[in-house]
Amino acid sequence: MTLPTISIVCPCHNEQEVLHAFTDKIVGILSESTFTYEILFVNDGSTDDTLAVIRDLASNNSNIRLINLSRNFGKEAALTAGLDLAQGDVIIPIDADLQDPPELIHDFLLEWQKGYDVVVAKRVDRSSDTLAKKITANLFYRFHNTIADVEIPDNVGDFRLITRRVVSAIQLLPENQRFMKGIFSWVGFKTSVVEYSRQPRAAGESSFNGWRLWNFALEGITSFSTAPLRVWLYLGFFVSAISFLFGASIILKTMLFGVDIPGYASLLIIVLFFGGIQLIGLGVMGEYIGRLYMESKRRPVYIIEEDSADTKNDAGD
Ligand code: UDP
Ligand code: MG
Repeated sequence: MTLPTISIVCPCHNEQEVLHAFTDKIVGILSESTFTYEILFVNDGSTDDTLAVIRDLASNNSNIRLINLSRNFGKEAALTAGLDLAQGDVIIPIDADLQDPPELIHDFLLEWQKGYDVVVAKRVDRSSDTLAKKITANLFYRFHNTIADVEIPDNVGDFRLITRRVVSAIQLLPENQRFMKGIFSWVGFKTSVVEYSRQPRAAGESSFNGWRLWNFALEGITSFSTAPLRVWLYLGFFVSAISFLFGASIILKTMLFGVDIPGYASLLIIVLFFGGIQLIGLGVMGEYIGRLYMESKRRPVYIIEEDSADTKNDAGD
């Protein structure tokens, strides 16, 4: 019987400073286990020396595979590429910056052996994050989970173990705007939770600033809920009902007390208020229509420029 293979999928964008430390650590941990392993580094259009570093790592360890995307496609796309190409029986997506502690892989494997198809890592301590990030993340999860069809567990990232059949399920989702946290939840399967405390980045800088996070949150919400579109119907009903009552009260007042001229300011405020409300509604529709448009192009999620597995095979021809 062949041993199960573990695939580590690591999207990398400008990670030259941490890759050596990361690789040493993860290879150490994987070689202790009784399974065979492969590490897929997906270089997502790095502008530093990440590509050269990975190439070097891959040439020194035949279990390491380089997948070089043709440009920066974003973490979700890089992760998707890794999941598509991984060959293992269990797949573990992990960040390169050592914020996801590789030690947890032992616990993942134990849970998997108990029969779970998904083992997620839950951050119990976000002290490495800024207060603003903690608050906004919390708001995002609360809002998303209130309106979306699938719940994303609080404080759970992409770091997890999934089995081959979960990956096959994920590959059935054809969308090209891929909000992986949502996609992972959407496919379901028997899930176990392992807790850990999140460390600050070992080196380098986070690629996610405020604006990118905001767009990421919008992606998550629009990918898994149409509630923001539908709320306008009810708001419209509500506003119509109020204006109807208001109109009736004005007619009544005019009949009882005669014409009353003042009211310019309140009129202006109401016009501006509803102008604003309508624009927000239109903007929300725009968010969905834009995504519908992008989705309708059916573009691939990523383009691979180089795969070291191909190069190795070619060399053997
Ligand atoms: N990443 C990527 N493409 C990007 C941005 C990030 O592949 O466009 C990778 C990055 O190299 C890291 C992981 O995604 O391995 C998480 O990114 P980061 O640490 O910047 O995010 P944070 O931990 O701050 O949320
Ligand atoms: Mg990070």
